[in-house]
Amino acid sequence: MSDEIGFIGLGAMGVPMAANLIAAGFALRVWNRTAAKAAPLTAQGATLAAAPAEAVEPGGVAITMLADDAAVESVTLGDNGLAARLRPGGIHVSMSTIAPATAQRLARYHAERGSAYVAAPVFGRPDNAQLRQLVVCTSGPAAAKQRIRPLLDAMGRAVFDFGDEPGAANVAKLCGNFLIAAAIEAMAEAFTMAEKSGVERGQVAAMLTKTLFAAPVYQRYGEMIAAKRHTPAGFKLPLGLKDVELVLAAGAAARVPMPLAGMLRERIIAGLAKGRDEMDWSALALGVLDEAGIK
Ligand code: NAP
Repeated sequence: MSDEIGFIGLGAMGVPMAANLIAAGFALRVWNRTAAKAAPLTAQGATLAAAPAEAVEPGGVAITMLADDAAVESVTLGDNGLAARLRPGGIHVSMSTIAPATAQRLARYHAERGSAYVAAPVFGRPDNAQLRQLVVCTSGPAAAKQRIRPLLDAMGRAVFDFGDEPGAANVAKLCGNFLIAAAIEAMAEAFTMAEKSGVERGQVAAMLTKTLFAAPVYQRYGEMIAAKRHTPAGFKLPLGLKDVELVLAAGAAARVPMPLAGMLRERIIAGLAKGRDEMDWSALALGVLDEAGIK
């Protein structure tokens, strides 16, 4: 694994993930639509590519950490895409949260060209990424997963594999994000009920997240929701809408009604209608305050 690794997508997550690869000794060739965001990485020795495919070496490894399905497809497909450049023996490690169906389509596209597609979506926010504390879910061909494992170990604290089926890791990731969104809504309702009953919401949050709900998601989001603090955003509300819509589509494809996901979608849309685009997705909790008549 001595060759240059291509890293495409330098947003809130991509920058700290790429920085950890450099810190672990990997040589990186990076690309981002807004080139200026590469500055902290080029300062650490990364090379800046002029186009997505130019970040990639034939037979090498390309990592994508882009916003959504359309962005991943736009850099992968076509004559100037990274799949054409990777050629036989190359591996695309796709770490964005995207639809299982998109992962399946991309895996087929790569297979037709002799390259491999590994789905590797992650749990953890930008500060977790910085601390190498991401939890990675993988699926795809075994040999490719084995070859890229040192890269995943340089970015995360644990890797959970879901087998060969390309979209399986994305299904697991969507299960997790659905549960996080549901926990945000549930805590917002509970803490608002406490507040309007004259009980200090922060005290309720502290008691519950130290005892019955002593889990990272409740603790982290519980503190934000109790304090009504939703900036700066680690994961922006529009990306939350993207994920809840991916959950609904995956549920529909599997013929699983997910009424709670539908309700969360409406909640997020209402927040965006109020101009909360730059807030963290925990700001869906503000919708509960709105409805309860709290300013
Ligand atoms: P972000 O800060 O919004 O960054 C998005 C990245 O995608 C930027 O590099 C952006 O380029 C690029 N991009 C967007 N549309 C594009 C297009 N059409 N063509 C090319 N590039 C495009 O998002 P993020 O928080 O890093 O999230 C990245 C992925 O990780 C998402 O799939 C997200 O769901 C997932 N994720 C996020 C978190 C989190 O806590 N933030 C946690 C786990 C997973 P520009 O810089 O030019 O805008």
